[in-house]
Amino acid sequence: MGSVNSRGPRAEAQVVMLGLDAAGKTMLLYKLKGHPLVETVPTVGFNVEPLEAPGHVLLTFWDVGGQSQLRASWKDHLEGTDVLVYVLDSTDEARLPEAAAELTEVLGDPNMAGVPFLVLANKQEVPDALSLLDIRNSLRPERFRGRRWELRACSALTGEGLPEALQSLRRLLQSRGHRRLQVTAGGEGRASHKS
Ligand code: GDP
Repeated sequence: MGSVNSRGPRAEAQVVMLGLDAAGKTMLLYKLKGHPLVETVPTVGFNVEPLEAPGHVLLTFWDVGGQSQLRASWKDHLEGTDVLVYVLDSTDEARLPEAAAELTEVLGDPNMAGVPFLVLANKQEVPDALSLLDIRNSLRPERFRGRRWELRACSALTGEGLPEALQSLRRLLQSRGHRRLQVTAGGEGRASHKS
């Protein structure tokens, strides 16, 4: 298990990935890093991973919700966040209100003021997954004023939507001043200067 210190001096962008347990964060990470597909076990606590080869983009991912003790510790790690990636399970209609409430909680943290966010509606390859429109209507991301956001459909299982999700991530990072940062799928990518 990493700590906030494993961010290292070369990380130029801190991306925090959050979502309810079993939303698919671990699987997304494997897919983005170009690892072969593995059956994951639900994340407990948090993980810190460099997203691309030179290690300039640091992805910290957490389960939100659950025990209040655990919540206290993820809140300690929001400082310095450049972009939030919020992962939703599009097949879990029952917990969508809970996921929306957790997003509200996270974005209300003082360290998250003005931080842009990308919502990934994961598991979209499942035939009865909620549509992006349903998710948007339930989440109402436009209520978070004063920050940029994007909503994307994807599947960590098939990889569908991930290149577009990375483009969104890059756009949102650019809006934070990471103008020369490149993030691409498959673990490749380069970052130069924060400008
Ligand atoms: P985490 O707790 O958010 O890290 O979730 P995991 O990555 O461990 O995934 C939870 C479960 O959902 C696992 O059984 C995964 O195989 C499954 N899963 C994750 N992404 C997808 C997806 O895009 N489609 C489908 N059908 N299942 C997925």
